[in-house]
Amino acid sequence: MNISDLRRELDLDHAAQEIYQFAAELYPICRSITGNGFRQTLSQTQSHIPLTLYEVPSGTQVFDWTVPREWNIRDAYVKNSQGDRVIDFQKSNLHVVNYSIPVHQKMSLEALKPHLFTLPDRPDWIPYRTSYYKDSWGFCLTHQQLLNLPEDEYEVCIDSTLEPGNLTYGEYYLPGETADEVLISCHACHPSLANDNLAGIAIATFLAKQLSQIARRYSYRFIFIPATIGSITWLSQNEDRVDNIKHGLVLSCLGDSGKSTYKKSRRGDTEIDRAVLHVLQHSGQEFEAIEFFPYGYDERQYCSPGFNLPVGCLMRTPNGKYREYHTSADNLEFIQPIYLKDSFAKCLAVFSILEHNKTYLNQNPKCEPQLGKRGLYRAIGGTSGSGVSEMAMLWTLNLSDGQHSLLEIADRSGSEFDDIKKAADALIENDLLKELL
Ligand code: ZN
Repeated sequence: MNISDLRRELDLDHAAQEIYQFAAELYPICRSITGNGFRQTLSQTQSHIPLTLYEVPSGTQVFDWTVPREWNIRDAYVKNSQGDRVIDFQKSNLHVVNYSIPVHQKMSLEALKPHLFTLPDRPDWIPYRTSYYKDSWGFCLTHQQLLNLPEDEYEVCIDSTLEPGNLTYGEYYLPGETADEVLISCHACHPSLANDNLAGIAIATFLAKQLSQIARRYSYRFIFIPATIGSITWLSQNEDRVDNIKHGLVLSCLGDSGKSTYKKSRRGDTEIDRAVLHVLQHSGQEFEAIEFFPYGYDERQYCSPGFNLPVGCLMRTPNGKYREYHTSADNLEFIQPIYLKDSFAKCLAVFSILEHNKTYLNQNPKCEPQLGKRGLYRAIGGTSGSGVSEMAMLWTLNLSDGQHSLLEIADRSGSEFDDIKKAADALIENDLLKELL
């Protein structure tokens, strides 16, 4: 079974339910760029794919960065003088500024206020804040909650540890016919945030699961890393391997109702860029293509000038472009199976192009071969008896001069890749086309 068979036979609705379910299972975990929440996320991912976990000690130098101390948290709260938890980490892990240092003291509202973060224009949402590289502490709460806090003596407790430990990442390598690799990368360091984090993790997991069950031309490497420091660490520890990466995708924000967005690689015209854009152009839906810029997700590191890898980023609504971004409203209602399904199917379509995109040589280049005598041409035009488009065959024959891949032929002829692939298969079967090796 290859990827075309898989795309034909896979029950996408069922897959989308499983993807959503997995995101829902991971949702409550308090993740961060290091620590047990990240490990627990990877260990739950292992119930679907045999991820290998790597631990990189705090203090390890990774290019210009240093692997930070490991952060763990058991509990956090602000109690009023009656002993009621007015801010409670147990209700939402977003209530604590991620990477807060431990604190346990009593203080007035006035002393507490500089440590409280809200969204005044979204008074019912809790913001998501981090303090990775600066020792500090704080709480996030709804603006409504803040307005309801009277003058009082508050007991403030963050029961966290920030100590030498490890940065953890997960990797799943699927060998193919060739050592040439497709890299799939997603960040897994955000706590209870669904679209920005879990949608990418869950889709990557189920892509890996499906790809593991079919014959593959390419090798695939799936990595689950903390954003920024994780890709920097991975690149630093795998520098000798990056030459194998021929195509790559960062997956994020794939479960919201917005249109698909593709952020191109720094090079801008690589095969992965063309493959994704081809899929989006033929999806029948609106989409957006954006040029590379050095901000966003881990494509920033893969596309840094010292690597300049062919890695783009597939999203629906991009980070920072939806109101719910980095707030408690990026929750399990914000992502939906129908959108996860669409994103998942698009990823499979992209992989299908990569798997099948070869360059062929027309074996009868002097004038058109006579298709009719081979049963490839019908008197009444359109498609031949085998369901292969005649125009697709003519284009494929004409451009198979060793200079054009099937994807280039599809784009130049305005045909869908799958139609060009079908035409190529029919021509190969009739000895009119041979793979250029
Ligand atoms: Zn984020």
